[in-house]
Amino acid sequence: MLVRVLVEVKALKEKTFIYSVPKNLQDRLEIGVRVQVPFGKRNIYGLVIDYAYDSEYETRDILDILDDSPIFSKELIELGKKMSEMYLCSLISSYESMLPSALKFNNNNIKIKYETFYKLEKSIENPTKGEKNILDLFVSSKEISSKLIKNRAILKRLVDNGVLKKELHENYRLDYNFIKQDMKVLTKAQNTAYNEILNTDKLITLLRGVTGSGKTEIYVHLVNEVIQKNKTAIVLVPEISLTTQLIDRFRGIFGNNIAVLHSSLSDGERYDEWRRIKSGKVSVVIGTRSAIFSPINNIGIIIIDEEHEDTYKQENNPKYRTLDIAIERAKYSNAKIVLGSATPSLESYAKAKVGRYNLVELLERVNSISLPKVYIIDMKDEMKKGNSILSSLAINLINDRLNRKEQIMILINRRGYSNYIMCNECGNVLKCQNCDISLTYHKSNDTLRCHYCGYATVKPNVCPKCGSKYLISKGIGTEKIEEYLYDKFKARIVRMDKDSTTNKGMHEKIINDFNNYKYDILLGTQMISKGLDFKKVSLVIVLNGDSNLNIPDYRSAEKTFNLLTQVSGRAGRNDSVGVSIIQTYNPSHYSIIYSKNHDYISFYNKEIQIRKKLNYPPFCKLVAVRIISSDYDTGNNEINKICKYLKNKLDIKYTILGPSVSLKVNNTYKFQIIIKYKDNDELHSILNDIQLNAKISSNSKIDIDFNPIKL
Ligand code: ADP
Ligand code: ZN
Ligand code: ZN
Repeated sequence: MLVRVLVEVKALKEKTFIYSVPKNLQDRLEIGVRVQVPFGKRNIYGLVIDYAYDSEYETRDILDILDDSPIFSKELIELGKKMSEMYLCSLISSYESMLPSALKFNNNNIKIKYETFYKLEKSIENPTKGEKNILDLFVSSKEISSKLIKNRAILKRLVDNGVLKKELHENYRLDYNFIKQDMKVLTKAQNTAYNEILNTDKLITLLRGVTGSGKTEIYVHLVNEVIQKNKTAIVLVPEISLTTQLIDRFRGIFGNNIAVLHSSLSDGERYDEWRRIKSGKVSVVIGTRSAIFSPINNIGIIIIDEEHEDTYKQENNPKYRTLDIAIERAKYSNAKIVLGSATPSLESYAKAKVGRYNLVELLERVNSISLPKVYIIDMKDEMKKGNSILSSLAINLINDRLNRKEQIMILINRRGYSNYIMCNECGNVLKCQNCDISLTYHKSNDTLRCHYCGYATVKPNVCPKCGSKYLISKGIGTEKIEEYLYDKFKARIVRMDKDSTTNKGMHEKIINDFNNYKYDILLGTQMISKGLDFKKVSLVIVLNGDSNLNIPDYRSAEKTFNLLTQVSGRAGRNDSVGVSIIQTYNPSHYSIIYSKNHDYISFYNKEIQIRKKLNYPPFCKLVAVRIISSDYDTGNNEINKICKYLKNKLDIKYTILGPSVSLKVNNTYKFQIIIKYKDNDELHSILNDIQLNAKISSNSKIDIDFNPIKL
């Protein structure tokens, strides 16, 4: 018996080798188990990915099998191979991205935790008093945890005499509390949408529902339907910070029949959840991007909530789009896919409009609650009045809401105290030592921090360049706004940004506390812009509504429209009419104007014309070819070689943009070429060839990214 084994050996390009399986291991060998194999003079670990029928070389024997059952099903083994082809990445990175780190090829540090239980095997006559105490425990329960049995000596005697039997149960680190909830009766509009999703014969449904239209409840009903049919569901959410309320809802309905996978679990917890899924103990997996690889079978539905979010694209190898993987898995299990959003990506909506996706729309909020009234404030005018942070309207309405004991959310897209520190004498701006990027001042711990590489330093007292004492801080971030709001309104304020949520559980705590009216104002970065549903919030303020417009990216208008529509959607979700205020220096930009009336369709129509004219997605596809280098000149040289080669190979059907170079981050430069294309076949093999065969200096590496999200 011969098998193909994938091994991790850094220096080699070829990573799969054929091994023979000795007789004594043949019964246990299956595709998808990890094995120990001899490699040169060492023994290493690998993954069995195929059977083999003959080998050019003499084969060596597998030494051991690590897993009792395969860690990958056949479906996932094949998916790994496919990903490696689609994204031009190594097989190892494909498979590793599917596994909890406890199972990475060389990691056997994380142990399964067990709890000991005892079962009654036979009765005894005339038990002693101590024995009777223990045996009485079994009257009301078949199994007793070892924790409940005090007298160890008697316990041991009972086990030795065969009266009790010891059993080990796998113990899961996570322990969930939940309050059982009921499913809501769907409204007429929800019910129509629900049926349109169930009855379509298209693989993918795009559910566009305005904020507060009750998409979550439709998901709950769809998942319930799938479970009734003995199938399973995967529900994907963009970030854990946006997920707590959705998870609570699902847990309330489905109890322990769900597993939750997200990035803030510890390795052990993640491994436990993975094992629970694999053992078939749950029917529903909720999680961020990588939960799409859950070892769950017989999938009936895959739901991707807030489908327009960038977090559904992985930026490390394999650089996959979650939807691409969902399509593979849905086809395998004959499942349906639902993409949900109030502001679908332009690409998804375009596909829905031409009938490639089933389009289902919910245009009103549940119970006809109106969408919030949006005011757009021109900050150029406010500046003249001396209002640099909050407009007069914002100040008035904050006071009004505080008096009425209602809550307020304020969004500013920057964390820290000020954006940067400048010397007033020589104009020097303090920069990161690893990046071409200015440092942000954080007042809470008096540090300067780089938001790109994480570098932090104590704030100097004098300018490092000229020695002047006159260092001034410029711009505003969450910390400064917090201070300002407190001075001005003396309200109860809670701040939610990356800095205030580094400790585990802080997201959930802030959201719960705000929900329970322990605070008047929730101030935060884009973390607070989506998904949250607070009954008492009747005012939402966006401080710098145009911050996304200044980013040079073909999607900056789309991002601005999405953010503003989503954040406005947080207001007035109960009965009072919500108000949202958008402060901006670009009040006439179409993305801002259309968001005022929550007018997705007009925005879409305008934006799609622009995309067409400039030939950007969805009218073409993009791939980025990058050289990442620690040395500017080498990187520049390498990218130009590749550019020249590509220009030679590719005809006029392809447009090549660049090369361009990004600012230095973490002492590395990123040189980039963007290729616009319609059909991928020829390009794919050319890029594969470059990836495998281009000779690139050792301080640089090549990086290929289909559908890049950052240009
Ligand atoms: P979306 O995800 O579309 O923004 P949500 O799912 O958060 O909307 O729903 C908005 C609000 O409406 C929530 O408070 C939810 O509890 C409520 N809701 C949803 N469906 C129903 C229903 N069928 N009956 C009563 N309330 C509902
Ligand atoms: Zn200076
Ligand atoms: Zn830095």
